[in-house]
Amino acid sequence: MSDSEHDAASRSRRDVDREQLKRTTDDLLMPAVYGQQDLVLDRGEGVRLWDVDGNEFLDAVAGIAVVNTGHSHPRVVEAIQEQAANYVQSSYYFYHEPMADLLQTLADRSPGALKNTFFGNSGAEAVEGGIKLAKKATGKSEFISLRGSFHGRTPGAMALTGQNKYTHTFNPHMPGCYKIPSPNYYRYGDRFADEEEFGKWAAEQVHEVIKYDSNDDVAAVVVEPIQGEGGIVVPPKNYLPYLKEICEQEDILFFADEVQTGMGRTGKLFAVEHWDVDPDIMTLAKGIASGVPFGLFMGTEEVSETMAPADHYTTYGGSPIACAAANATFDVIDEEGLVENAATVGDEALDRFEELKEDHQLVGDARGKGLHLGLELVEDRETKAPAEEGAKAVRAAAHERGLLVSRCGTHGNVLRLTPPLSITSDEMEEMLDRLDAAFDDVEAAT
Ligand code: PMP
Repeated sequence: MSDSEHDAASRSRRDVDREQLKRTTDDLLMPAVYGQQDLVLDRGEGVRLWDVDGNEFLDAVAGIAVVNTGHSHPRVVEAIQEQAANYVQSSYYFYHEPMADLLQTLADRSPGALKNTFFGNSGAEAVEGGIKLAKKATGKSEFISLRGSFHGRTPGAMALTGQNKYTHTFNPHMPGCYKIPSPNYYRYGDRFADEEEFGKWAAEQVHEVIKYDSNDDVAAVVVEPIQGEGGIVVPPKNYLPYLKEICEQEDILFFADEVQTGMGRTGKLFAVEHWDVDPDIMTLAKGIASGVPFGLFMGTEEVSETMAPADHYTTYGGSPIACAAANATFDVIDEEGLVENAATVGDEALDRFEELKEDHQLVGDARGKGLHLGLELVEDRETKAPAEEGAKAVRAAAHERGLLVSRCGTHGNVLRLTPPLSITSDEMEEMLDRLDAAFDDVEAAT
């Protein structure tokens, strides 16, 4: 046993009263632990997590696309520790090196003409700021977003979110937010000749909203390049370029929410790059700082210069620790070739998904890009009736077999795999062996 293995093993023998810890959390946390993974965490390393009982799990959740560099990457840990020992005060009052470095990296690496960044603390907060930026830059107040979308749980982000299971108890929402259909060909494409015709129709719904619903006051179209919570919805090839073209025609901003798809997740640094579409506004969070709370929005110079200092501010914005973690995250992504790895291992996984689909009737559709992967489970392949219970059962069986996956989709019937981008082909193979076995377990029990 190596030293680090020995240390880890002795740590996991810590005397943790697991049941008491869970009771306290269930009693005091508002509202409750989200409930998908019933385990008490001890530690993580790479694609693996251990619970306090010493059980090892392969983690295909990664905090939902957060720890793209793998759990507790030494480089990121070191950057956080060094920065914490140096200075930690919040940033908008000061200049400091980690923030300047990160601003430069973002300006250099982000798509198209995006240039200026505002730093906040989460995905929802980034979206909220993006809404303000779009309003300020255009002097308009309406928004178009997509059914099946998810943009966060703060009031503005909820108004954009196209899944009422997350939003209905908080009506009424910010007015002037209209929804167009999700470009989900598997679910809604049947009556179209092909994906292209469907993609065109789905994008053209922007014109319909402008004609029939809006007050001629639309500031932006807000879109996740690949819907995440909505079920890993990869749009038809022509969809995003055409949507962008329509935004230009209608003189509205193109606002890409890359909170889940950014930072290499889909096999490009930013998902819009798959379609060569340049946003006017873009949000990032999750993978940006390998787990340190961080979110940001960017704008082109033209859009950003409309913001005055008093328009937006947050105490922790540009936190030196978060910036240091983000800088280290970019370094690890580059040095370890994680974007390329996500593309390669993702393609291998998609091949193996086809086998899963052949072997298991529950799998209606298998899709994704890079390591943003989903299996949509259905009761019946003809009717495509969503198999939410089936998805819960396979997720639970996978957990029993030491594999953590999450569920998403408007019907909760999509198994989502978003492992760290550092995953090897062998580790992915092992994950999919366990998933295959989990399907067998569920089939054997029914
Ligand atoms: N936008 C998208 C696309 C997301 O996937 C999420 C989180 N699932 C959010 C915004 C909100 O992020 P956060 O949970 O950090 O507020």
